[in-house]
Amino acid sequence: MKINKTSKISGFYKKSIDERIDLISSIASLTEEEQSLLFKALDKGLADRMIENVVGTFTLPLGIALNFRVNNEDVFVPMATEESSVVAAASKAAKIARKSGGFRTESTDPIMIGQIQILDVDDVATASEKILQEKNKLLTVANAQDKILTNLGGGAKDLAVRILTSSFGKMIVVHLYVDVRDAMGANAVNTMVEALAPVIEDISGGRVRLKILSNLADQRLVKSRAIFDKDLIGGEKVVDAFLESVELAKIDPYRAATHNKGIMNGIDAVIIATGNDFRAIEAGAHAYAARNGQYTSLTNYWKDETGNLVGEIKLPLALGIVGGAGSIHPTAQMCKKMMRISSAQQLSELVASVGLAQNFAAVLALSTVGIQKGHMSLHAKNIAMMAGANEEDIDRIANILIKEGNVKLDRAKELVKKE
Ligand code: NAD
Repeated sequence: MKINKTSKISGFYKKSIDERIDLISSIASLTEEEQSLLFKALDKGLADRMIENVVGTFTLPLGIALNFRVNNEDVFVPMATEESSVVAAASKAAKIARKSGGFRTESTDPIMIGQIQILDVDDVATASEKILQEKNKLLTVANAQDKILTNLGGGAKDLAVRILTSSFGKMIVVHLYVDVRDAMGANAVNTMVEALAPVIEDISGGRVRLKILSNLADQRLVKSRAIFDKDLIGGEKVVDAFLESVELAKIDPYRAATHNKGIMNGIDAVIIATGNDFRAIEAGAHAYAARNGQYTSLTNYWKDETGNLVGEIKLPLALGIVGGAGSIHPTAQMCKKMMRISSAQQLSELVASVGLAQNFAAVLALSTVGIQKGHMSLHAKNIAMMAGANEEDIDRIANILIKEGNVKLDRAKELVKKE
């Protein structure tokens, strides 16, 4: 949620839920109807239209990350997640970053790739040449499929041809590059590549098998950068410890997987809150992380000339603000209104910043006190709940578990039994 003054609200976590809703609603001008969505399940009929065999809805907590400042604008970040500490960690990192001006971002045009696989071509070089010669005709056929998109300045912009060798022999793969404007773009691109298939068969003399979007959206990249002041994180020693930690994620896929999972903790939470396709983003992010043949970190950090820590994230983000489930899910629509996002590019730049913030917070904790300390309070409450503690006993039992340094289900059950 972009607000006029600041996204920094002290003591937000200490307020009651109703007080938080009042505050957020007044700043974001949420109507009473929109406010009522905050603790409401999805309508039965709508759920039944969204997927098959519906028997219910499944809800997640929705929190607001504070302190975010992206390209000189304050913004509130709605996050839907089941994992404790994610919202607090993002808010903490954003608070440190805002001292140095917050996050600065860059992004490419929203170009998605559609793939067309062509088999049974004897002379792949000549067939590829023919396809490229007919580029304008092919782009015209593709663009005839989506007049809305082309009227908005989007649509199929270019195509490329790749020749791959496989156990089925050589195959041609055509890449169609489509500017999808404010959409995620999967349906738009799939419609275009399906329409192109018979035309491409005619031109190439081959047989088209697959015609589908690629989730490796490496033409739709987003970059976000922030400076984390060394004096706010424990000085140059901590900066050095941080850089040592990051080094392992750069060189070792075992660490990189966990490092990037931490990034996705933040990214997925915003994606879910805005009704976007988190599997598409996950697939794209991890494929991009392995683009050079070895899976590696999606973030990079270094020390600037004053000894401060600079962090940067770069990844593909195929996000939409129109189309898909986000256009029909009322809570997702409300979250987008809260954020006052006006383009898919703006949303993706914010989401990349959240990913960087989440990663910074996790690596900072790992490089200093360890990850468990921050997790423990909410984790202990979850354990107390799992052990069957009553609402009024949850905090007390959680405190005993933390004090004893024994946040375990069997101990929590013993304490619940004693009640
Ligand atoms: P969509 O088809 O619902 O909406 C996009 C369409 O909206 C555009 O084609 C355009 O005609 C119209 N539109 C109106 N205003 C627009 C604007 N400002 N900018 C752009 N388009 C505008 O959605 P989509 O984004 O094409 O597809 C997204 C959905 O496809 C998601 O639900 C996703 O889960 C699903 N999907 C994903 C995959 C995959 O990731 N591999 C595959 C198939 C489907």
